[in-house]
Amino acid sequence: MTPLEEIIRAEIAADGPMPMDRFMGLALGHPEHGYYMAHEPFGPSGDFVTAPEISQMFGEMIGLWVASVWQAMGAPGKFRLIELGPGRGTLMADLIRALSALPAALRAADIWLVETSPRLRQWQSEALGRQVTWANTLAEVPQDAPCIIIANEFFDALPVRQAQKTDMIWLERHVCLVKGELAIKGLPLRREFPIPDNMQAMPDGGIWEYSPIARMIATQMGARIARDGGAALIFDYGDLAGSGDTMQAVRNHQKVPLLSTPGQADITAHVRFADLVEAALPSTSQPLTSQSAFLRNLGIGTRAASLAEGQTPDRQSEIADGLERLTDPKG
Ligand code: SAH
Repeated sequence: MTPLEEIIRAEIAADGPMPMDRFMGLALGHPEHGYYMAHEPFGPSGDFVTAPEISQMFGEMIGLWVASVWQAMGAPGKFRLIELGPGRGTLMADLIRALSALPAALRAADIWLVETSPRLRQWQSEALGRQVTWANTLAEVPQDAPCIIIANEFFDALPVRQAQKTDMIWLERHVCLVKGELAIKGLPLRREFPIPDNMQAMPDGGIWEYSPIARMIATQMGARIARDGGAALIFDYGDLAGSGDTMQAVRNHQKVPLLSTPGQADITAHVRFADLVEAALPSTSQPLTSQSAFLRNLGIGTRAASLAEGQTPDRQSEIADGLERLTDPKG
């Protein structure tokens, strides 16, 4: 049993069944035993690989996008460049290098990282040095300048609640103790749970997920952009209006049972972008696009070719590999 499982069992014994968002929040964010607090998640030796860790081209392309947004905003003398959940800081380091091609834009950027894990802050500080400032929440980042916000695989790490249709009524899924083991059970809804009208026709057993914290953050982003100007770029697994049980645990590049090793496996849930779009009003959103199309439109192919020029065959195939993994739907 993991140390966090003991804590979860004790909380269930004291307070009763635990809603899924509480379970996911503890599994990822418990101050001592949470996955992001205690683990080295990223890279081949970690549990999963994210786009910025695949190739420097990912962060560089985002740097280009930031430069074009900055110009479209009329090249303000100061703007806040904010990354949510920066992991090892690789994306921001690559972004800054690309943005330095436009020195006025880089000078104008006041860079903020929103990160709750002290361990990951340490990594970020090694990658980025003193040119950045940290905050625990987006709301802590000062609001007196236009902003450009980046989030890669951040929203899928935010806790979700799950409602399940059972005998024609909606129950909320909870973690409970059944015969001494952690198990998931549906219980009557006790907190408000927004379920869209068209989901009422869902067949029995169907699951609807909802992340209050993702919605709250999207609301803050939208309000900030509407007031101060700016833009946000969100990359994540998910779709516009998906449904079903998408919570999954991954450890060492393998799916593992959700409740099996809390604190030692990464837990994610797919992002329902329609929720973010709605929460971000009055700021408006572009249509959802694939990462592949987005990067290709920015010219990642050209960047790969220029990076590969004059390099050794090994390095060239590494660059080609990175390009494929970032842009091939199968990669
Ligand atoms: N963007 C990085 C890391 C993705 S993992 C990459 O692509 O490699 C998720 C990141 O979000 C981690 O840095 C994690 O510590 C952070 N995080 C998770 N929940 C958070 C929260 N509620 N507030 C701030 N950061 C959070």
